[in-house]
Formats: sequence, structure tokens, C-alpha cells
Amino acid sequence: MTDPAPPDLAARWQAVRGRVDQACRDAGRSPGEVNILPVSKTFDAAVVRQATALGLKRFGENKVQEIRAKAADLGDLPLEWVVIGHLQTNKARDVARLASEVQSLDRMELAHELDRRLQAEGRGIDVLVQVKTSPEEAKSGVSPEALPGLLHELNACASLRLRGLMTMAIASEDPAAVRGCFRQLHQLREACRQSGHDLDRLSMGMSGDFALAIAEGATEVRIGSAIFGVRS
Ligand SMILES: *Cc1c(COP(=O)(O)O)cnc(C)c1O
Repeated sequence: MTDPAPPDLAARWQAVRGRVDQACRDAGRSPGEVNILPVSKTFDAAVVRQATALGLKRFGENKVQEIRAKAADLGDLPLEWVVIGHLQTNKARDVARLASEVQSLDRMELAHELDRRLQAEGRGIDVLVQVKTSPEEAKSGVSPEALPGLLHELNACASLRLRGLMTMAIASEDPAAVRGCFRQLHQLREACRQSGHDLDRLSMGMSGDFALAIAEGATEVRIGSAIFGVRS
């Protein structure tokens, strides 16, 4: 049994859905065409359970041990865990068991290990390749130059279904700099499509910058604090 979501969580979710739809209209896009991935990192299983009362079932997490703990607590619910954080190769086994999708795929060593573990589990998952569009040290991802080679090699990993690209924009007060990161990801996607890769998804934009990402063609935005509140 899941109780109704607390009013403040429900209100924040409705507000985010409304702002995302408005950003779509402002960009000349259809409201509702951009998906929202709620990012539940650092919030405990009880909060995720409350969020499921809003009809949410797909949650973004950046640490595999958090997915493991929450999946154990919430085993009675049909949830999908999406990995959005930098992944160490030695976490591939847990990811293969627990995740429905990885958006932070950034190197072949990880791809091969995930593929091997997934084959052992007899499952496949969707993957997005994370691209580094910002010069900041803290941001991970494959470089734009290395992206075509990585996509080509991924063909060998039968259990990884390549669906699109993901990025984190530069943390900057300058909207043009942030927007430039999103624009670059969109352009890279178009170039990869020209060379035959079937990439429909662009995961870009977070609580602070999603309107810019939507203006640049995001198909999904990853929203944490605007839904769940400030992280401690
Ligand atoms: C934490 C995180 C988000 C969500 O960030 P908010 O600013 O809280 O919306 C999105 N993407 C990634 C990769 C993250 O680690």
C-alpha cells in the first residue's frame, strides 16, 4: 500500500511539470514532448515511495550503492533505476542486476564489462553515451572527438541498446556558455545520425538549466532538487 504523496512533494512535481511544459511552448515545441527523469539521489527510499504515488516509476541515481539500498527497500514496487553518475567498472555487476538504463556510459572498458554481466543475467538495457561538452575537470564523459569511434565499437555489445546522448552543461552564470554545451550535444547527435546511428534521445538539462536545454532540443531533462528539495 502506498499512501498519497505529501502535498509539498506533489506541488513541487506539478510545478516542475508546468515549467517544463512552458519551456516547450517557449521553444515552439509541444508541451509534454519532453520527459522528466526525477533524480532521487541522496533522498531515501521512503521519499521515493512517496513519489511513486504521483505516478513516477523511473528514478535517476548517481551511486550504485544507493540503487542497491533503495531497490532492496522498494522491492514491492515496479521501479526502473537509471544510472546517471560516473560508473566504476567494478560496479558493472550490480548495474547489470538492478538498473534499467545507464546514461553515463563513457568508455569501452565499461561497455564490455556491462555487456558481459548483462549477458550472464540474460538481459539488455538502454544506454546513453555521456559526452563531455564542458571543460570543467569534474565533468566526465567521452570527448566529442572520440564519440564516433566509441559509438562504432558499441555495436559489438549486443546487450546494450544505444538510444542517445547525455551531457552535463558547464556550471556558469552565462546562459550562452550553458546553452553552447547543449547545442554541441544536439549537433553531435545530428552528425552521428548522418553516419547511421539511430539516436533519438538527448538527455540534457537539470533543475537550474532545463529551459535552455529544452530550447536546444532536449528530449528529457534530469530534475532533482526542484522536485525533491535541496540536498543536504
Ligand atoms: C544530481 C544530478 C542531476 C539533477 O540535478 P538537480 O540540479 O538537483 O536537478 C542531473 N544530472 C546528473 C548527472 C546529476 O548528477
